[in-house]
Amino acid sequence: MKENKNLGINTICTHVGEVKDEQFKGAVSPIYMSTSYAFDNVDVKRYPRYFNTPNQEMLCKKIAALEKTENALIFGSGMAAVSTTLLAFLHKGDHIVLQQTLYGGTYNFVVEEFDKFGIEYSFTQDLSIESFQKEIKPNTKVLYIETPSNPLLTITDMKAISGLAKENGIVTMIDNTFASPINQTPIDFGVDIMLHSATKYMGGHSDVLAGAVAASNLHIDLIWNVAKNLGGSLSDFTVWMLERSLKTMNLRVKRQSKNALKMAKYLEKNAKVSKVYYPGLKSHPDYQLAKKQMKNFGGMLSFELCDGVNSMDFMNALQLIKPSMSLAGIESTMLSPTQTSHALLSPEERAQQGIKDGLIRFSVGIEETKDLIADIEQALDSLQ
Ligand SMILES: *Cc1c(COP(=O)(O)O)cnc(C)c1O
Repeated sequence: MKENKNLGINTICTHVGEVKDEQFKGAVSPIYMSTSYAFDNVDVKRYPRYFNTPNQEMLCKKIAALEKTENALIFGSGMAAVSTTLLAFLHKGDHIVLQQTLYGGTYNFVVEEFDKFGIEYSFTQDLSIESFQKEIKPNTKVLYIETPSNPLLTITDMKAISGLAKENGIVTMIDNTFASPINQTPIDFGVDIMLHSATKYMGGHSDVLAGAVAASNLHIDLIWNVAKNLGGSLSDFTVWMLERSLKTMNLRVKRQSKNALKMAKYLEKNAKVSKVYYPGLKSHPDYQLAKKQMKNFGGMLSFELCDGVNSMDFMNALQLIKPSMSLAGIESTMLSPTQTSHALLSPEERAQQGIKDGLIRFSVGIEETKDLIADIEQALDSLQ
């Protein structure tokens, strides 16, 4: 497809970035598994670690179209995308400001690796623009945000933060995994670089590990220069799996978002639930901001059970909803952040981030909500 402008979202998902099967006219993209390509007639040297096989190049067009950027790159994991991109923009002596609530892997990468490279970092006190401003130094090169955040679904003001960055000649990066480009396109709010764990909503079936970054040609060239050295590319079979997944991303994520809103409203009314965190609820402190910058509120929510209802017992009693580490698959899953994603933090650090021991994170799938509700009811009843 030559011209992507004005195409609707489902058309982009289905068609942009197809690899044409000129020889046999098959309906779907052929997979090019070659690690070796002739160099006659081509100015690009094709090689999987150069991120430029036919499948890689074409899938990047779909991701760029979804994020409304000029270009994109795909990686072997979300962390490969995050680490490569950060190292492309931060040199020895540079400084980065990161928001306080971050995906655990990103937090670990920063605190465990940056000292080796002589890169300075600060975390904000909270998500207010003042707390970002306070941390900016003359050598700050990047502001890094994640909205909605994990696991409490707090919302960061993308326009305010990217505006602050621009005033100071700083690049803004966002981890857009939780919203996906279906629910939020940060470039509309001035954010420069969009990062994804494609393992989550882009893959959507809990069977692909991948990452992506979307940005301008200039920024993607910078990232590519580091990416080819770090070597975090992914196999073309996985690229093909991801292409197939992206075709249904809008349908899946819309349905998951609709289901999550229904489940959030149901849980809010449940007498055995003391608190629900979902940006689509009017009771959420960031509801107005979420409405401004998100199209739907996403498929993730979290909640706390009332005192006396043990969250581990509750999750063990579920029959349909699976206890599971990862998120964003078409199947509903739950986990305890204290036991899993945030287990490495001290109880004090968790308390500082507002994560109580009984908190349950709920990744809502595409099932019928009546069946999800019935499962939650039977699990709660069994604990009497
Ligand atoms: C899972 C996740 C990552 C890391 O992605 P991997 O594919 O596991 O490497 C980064 N950010 C967020 C928000 C995630 O949920």
